Amino acid sequence: MFFTETYKFENPSLPYGYSSLEPFIDELTMQIHHDRHLQTYTDNLNAALAAQPELQTMGLEELLLEAGKLPASLGTPIARNAGGVYNHRFFFEGMSPTPQKAPTGALAAALDRDLGGLDGFLRDFRAAALGVFGSGYAWLVSDPKGALRIIGTANQDTPLTLGLRPLLCLDVWEHAYYLKHYNKRADYITDWLSLANWHLADTLYSAVK
Ligand code: MN
Repeated sequence: MFFTETYKFENPSLPYGYSSLEPFIDELTMQIHHDRHLQTYTDNLNAALAAQPELQTMGLEELLLEAGKLPASLGTPIARNAGGVYNHRFFFEGMSPTPQKAPTGALAAALDRDLGGLDGFLRDFRAAALGVFGSGYAWLVSDPKGALRIIGTANQDTPLTLGLRPLLCLDVWEHAYYLKHYNKRADYITDWLSLANWHLADTLYSAVK
């Protein structure tokens, strides 16, 4: 999807309208989240790379893996802002106004094998999303051999640096839900689960194997 993009990064339009996730996620939240929050991460990433020609040929994934090897004055802003772009791309792509309701094929079989099927996934993913203290994300991820896990990450950390491939991503920063759900993260999680883009997760999982 967006793995080959390099500097200068852009903020492409959402693959659906701002209001098309109503009533689960409201139009104003989607506008602010995409046009301001993600735009800011994009702008700050470009600013961090502007004087670094040797990093300008790297995609988001390479930047995230490289950031830990750089001096903190450069590596920290790159990790935070490349993470912000990467995570938000997964989050926005990982929702659909007309979602496929469950995984199919290899991912469905792996969900049965590793996580107790869709019901087990829903239970454990909800717990992981509720369990993120402060700002962060909940993820369905695959290890390089195709084993599935559910994890939470803090701030703009990514599963990539843990050697894990993202399949689904839920943003639980308060900016993702506060205008509609106020402090009720559990209600937001329930609403998000009805938008989860299993078609994307199926496609990403096929690429892991
Ligand atoms: Mn966000």
